[in-house]
Amino acid sequence: MSDTQKAGLIVVAGAGGFIGGALVKYFADRGLTRIRAVDKKPLPEWYQRVPNVECLCLDLSDEANCRRACENATEVYNLAADMGGMGFIERFRIECLRSVLINTHMIEAACRAGAQRYFFSSSACVYNTELQEDPDVRALKESDAYPAMAERGYGWEKLFSEMFCQEYWHERGMQTAIGRFHNVYGPFGTWDGGREKAPAAICRKVIEAKDRGCDSIEIWGDGKQTRSFMYIDDCTRGVDLIMHSDDLIATPINLGSGELVSINQLVSVAEEIGGVKLRREYRLDAPQGVAGRNSDNAMIKQILGWEPDTPLGEGLAKTYAWIERQYLDRKAGKRTVS
Ligand code: NAD
Repeated sequence: MSDTQKAGLIVVAGAGGFIGGALVKYFADRGLTRIRAVDKKPLPEWYQRVPNVECLCLDLSDEANCRRACENATEVYNLAADMGGMGFIERFRIECLRSVLINTHMIEAACRAGAQRYFFSSSACVYNTELQEDPDVRALKESDAYPAMAERGYGWEKLFSEMFCQEYWHERGMQTAIGRFHNVYGPFGTWDGGREKAPAAICRKVIEAKDRGCDSIEIWGDGKQTRSFMYIDDCTRGVDLIMHSDDLIATPINLGSGELVSINQLVSVAEEIGGVKLRREYRLDAPQGVAGRNSDNAMIKQILGWEPDTPLGEGLAKTYAWIERQYLDRKAGKRTVS
């Protein structure tokens, strides 16, 4: 952590959510004392609240609110978006597209405030869907986003916002960074309610089945679709490294694990952690996204000498334990995250 970084004001947008909250904690743990956390959710609903951090409750699709959020900022991290797992992004494409307002106003506000660096949380959903029609997928490299045929709604919004980041560097000289996240999971994330992603949903279903003495689990699709899953600690570290690499200015880069697994394998890992074996009921009409997707990490390894490497079994065990606590707390009538 440089002295400039330590002295400057860091703004994290979307800090009431999963990755934004973890990023605030990551910076606070590293001794940064000037952090402003912003989210539209009321404070009691934030997943993590870090002591001594300035917290603002603002709707960042509004331009004036973005100017307030970015006042005096030296670094801005935009993790705010209306998003969720496959069930959400396939059903609510308009909400996903409308997140373009957040990045549009945040990047302009950051630039006007004289921020030195701006981070945008993009997604593997920018990649051409035609390259992801086989579970035995070739890992996606950064250049595979063009010619473009992104995921409808969510993916196109991310691709368009990436371009904003590139042009703010080329035309206005603001140093921007773009991480294309591949499925992030971990504690303090959404685990119920419709916006949760596959790892959290599977853990919750295993926990529920055990608790209710049920011997089956519902799986969306045929379970053969493949993905890679990145543990949250790798994500926060990767964001920091990408943001501060002078070789990656305005250059989209994959931030994901290269450990490809099928959804069936993901279920097996969760069952092993929970110590159960469940009968699988496949819902073939449920949202399931592309057939296969993996992160090609050649570029991140070459430029940063690092890649996300937490094994799925290790990260999922921590996630499972956290969700189980949430589940039991909720059952006992206590307040929980999401
Ligand atoms: P999240 O839903 O947990 O957090 C997003 C936060 O943004 C929420 O707290 C939400 O209240 C806030 N937000 C939404 N609209 C807002 C607005 N108008 N003003 C202010 N705040 C607003 O999601 P997450 O998993 O933490 O994702 C963070 C970022 O990473 C998003 O940009 C997402 O698209 C991207 N991403 C996440 C994943 C993943 O697997 N979690 C994968 C790819 C990309």
